[in-house]
Amino acid sequence: MNPVELIIRKRDGGELLPAEMKHFITDYIEGNIDASQMTALLMAIYFKGMTNSETRNLTDIYINSGSRIEFPPDMPTVDKHSTGGVGDKISLMLAPIVAACGVPVPMISGRGLGHTGGTLDKLEAIPGFRTDFAQSDFIKFVNTSGLAIISQSEKLVPADRLIYALRDTTGTVESLPLITASIMGKKIAEGAHNLVIDLKVGSGAFMRDLEKAQKLGELLTSTGIAFGQKVKVTYTNMNSPLGFYCGNALETREAIDYLKGETAPDIDIITRRLAKEMLLLTGVYSDPQAAETKIDQVISSGAALEKLIAMIRQQEGNVNVIDKYDILPTAKYELPVISSQEGWIKSINSRQIGYALVSIGAGRKTLKSILDMSAGAWLPHKIGAKLDKQQILGKVYCNDKSAGEAAVKRIKAAYEISATKIETEEIILIP
Ligand code: URA
Repeated sequence: MNPVELIIRKRDGGELLPAEMKHFITDYIEGNIDASQMTALLMAIYFKGMTNSETRNLTDIYINSGSRIEFPPDMPTVDKHSTGGVGDKISLMLAPIVAACGVPVPMISGRGLGHTGGTLDKLEAIPGFRTDFAQSDFIKFVNTSGLAIISQSEKLVPADRLIYALRDTTGTVESLPLITASIMGKKIAEGAHNLVIDLKVGSGAFMRDLEKAQKLGELLTSTGIAFGQKVKVTYTNMNSPLGFYCGNALETREAIDYLKGETAPDIDIITRRLAKEMLLLTGVYSDPQAAETKIDQVISSGAALEKLIAMIRQQEGNVNVIDKYDILPTAKYELPVISSQEGWIKSINSRQIGYALVSIGAGRKTLKSILDMSAGAWLPHKIGAKLDKQQILGKVYCNDKSAGEAAVKRIKAAYEISATKIETEEIILIP
């Protein structure tokens, strides 16, 4: 195989055969093809796309680039994948709720990416909490407590780990076939038989418009089905940051509060909807009303909170966090963001808010960046909210005051205020 020939064929809109793709990717993983040629192929795919069968073949190559985790075929395992947002702490509440309903949740999650936050980073705000477990521990946790949230090991889908890092730095992330192979490769290899995808759409998401998101949703679903995985896609609004808080420790605390019965309306709507879809997809529940009642019951009885505690304990975190929030990292400064205008919030550039949070250490600038777990923001006002002049729009929590002051300015500029009334937005985009 001559890599240049394949790059040129894809550049000119041609199709790649499974054996050719496999050869190219294996050679890249083994260091026989360098990053410039891999980047050229990724850029050609970005511009020319892939057929559905090429996307399936690429997913297959990803899955088989490493080991696979297997749960018994009759075990109704279910996972959720979010395509990423700002303030997205849903997994921290969702996994315990679904596990408390008796449905096992094996979850291999990611870290913050670009302007978006990551579930692993939020959980690691809990002192001692580990995510770097072996696959055998992962299986043991799911079998005993009904849930586990860990990181992708070196052995699982190494092709995605290496190619994703390259895509992240070469402007080739937003390609539907590449996103599909990357997400589905991991989600099929981790062994969940059912998958609910929270496809986020809006200013804080990688997908800004619903039409493109739906194309991605269809490709993800058909690829999952081709590998025997049941997939359900839910499209949710990512125009306003989710919940009241953004930032790792702050979001972990918000998730614990949720399981104690306190909530922001948007995260409640999304969590309950995704939990219902997960229960129904497994077939363990067939009546939507019964699923909703059970979800309600495990939240109000504290059973879901107990599952979170079990997960924190099994993953070596300090369970005292449930009652003592002061063991979470806390920032030195709390800086107000003050609205200079009266009116209704018309739009929020949530991506800019995400980048403002990265600038104070709540997210990573590079893969090697060290996070400041205490950094973040309180941003309770959503699109359609009425603001008075000089009202506190939010607060920035930081340890570096000058970086915090710059973030305050950036966050304030992310809000567009209208003098006329603006309606609030739907959270679930396709009912
Ligand atoms: N999340 C992933 O895991 N992969 C992508 O390509 C995009 C989002």
